[in-house]
Amino acid sequence: MRTWTKEEITELYHKPLMELLYEAASVHRKNFDPLEVQVSTLVSIKTGNCAEDCGYCPQAARYNTGIDTNELMSLEEVIQKGKDAKAAGSSRVCMGASWRNVKEDDDFDQVLEMVRSLNEMDLEVCCTLGMLTENQAKRLANAGLYAYNHNLDTSEEYYKEVISTRGYEDRLNTIDNASKAGITVCSGGILGMGEKDEDRIGMLYTLSLMNPRPASVPINALVAVEGTPMEDQQEVSIWEMVRMIATTRIVMDTSYVRLSAGRTQMTDEGQALCFMAGANSIFAGEKLLTTPNPEFVGDMALFNNLGIKPMPAYKHGPKPQINEAYKERSEEANEKIKWSRPGHKIERNEAKKAEAKASRKGEFEPRKVSSVEKI
Ligand code: SF4
Repeated sequence: MRTWTKEEITELYHKPLMELLYEAASVHRKNFDPLEVQVSTLVSIKTGNCAEDCGYCPQAARYNTGIDTNELMSLEEVIQKGKDAKAAGSSRVCMGASWRNVKEDDDFDQVLEMVRSLNEMDLEVCCTLGMLTENQAKRLANAGLYAYNHNLDTSEEYYKEVISTRGYEDRLNTIDNASKAGITVCSGGILGMGEKDEDRIGMLYTLSLMNPRPASVPINALVAVEGTPMEDQQEVSIWEMVRMIATTRIVMDTSYVRLSAGRTQMTDEGQALCFMAGANSIFAGEKLLTTPNPEFVGDMALFNNLGIKPMPAYKHGPKPQINEAYKERSEEANEKIKWSRPGHKIERNEAKKAEAKASRKGEFEPRKVSSVEKI
């Protein structure tokens, strides 16, 4: 595994785009079949009412974004979503819950059963549930979890401008806990939050230092949702996305590079450039699951045009075996686990929190938006 200095990544990132693109495409071809793209389906198993203050997220309870919230889905619903995802060509299902951290309770027991059921359907199963202890990671691994998503979001320096309710160190520890349990890690970030090039490079450098490196690196473009502290952020250009994807592909040569949130704002030509730059995974939104819809049809038309086919499950790693030990709650069930809460004030987060408070008091109309693009 080649190691990178921050200076080397900086040099790479600032190369003329056509040079960077060519180099990234060459690295991609050395490590992957460039005509295969992994299709993952995202299922929001618990939406909204989150206690955290991530400045980009419409699911934070403290902002007035008007999203539809839901408590934890039933096992039956998740099984149906898994069947629909598989029928639509997805090889992986990623279940997201808007929790600060996992707790050893009935809800977690239910999530473990969801993991098992999807694994038994021969789907790669991924979860994104917030912070995770080592024992919780082991239970997930025993239930058949293949991947755990926990994004760094940005550099350690800029993280303080995005979130005040948790620390960067806890993110790194959660990733470490998942790795130690033998779960593959999915971790990346978001462009367009007001960060500088150095922050994008810093995040990539931190990811490259992980051992093992994340098997999957999502690169998101911010979807600026009204009511969040980042509602006024400018849309990220396709050139920035291509540059970041290409740099990620070269630095993290054997990882999947995941073209994630923000894809719906891109043209087909823009997405084709991202695939050329080494992106080899996409998220297919859950809205396409029940019936074929324009999003799904559009994705397949694009794949056909480009000669791309969906990647089969477990192409780059074995299917996890289920160990019934996942049913046993650990000692931690009785302990109060301490995660950090820096609690510094971020001006734009505070302003949006105050606006939401005023709205609850009836000083503004509550906002109504139609959907959430989960990151
Ligand atoms: S990104 Fe996750 S942790 Fe942060 S507010 Fe949204 S749901 Fe909560």
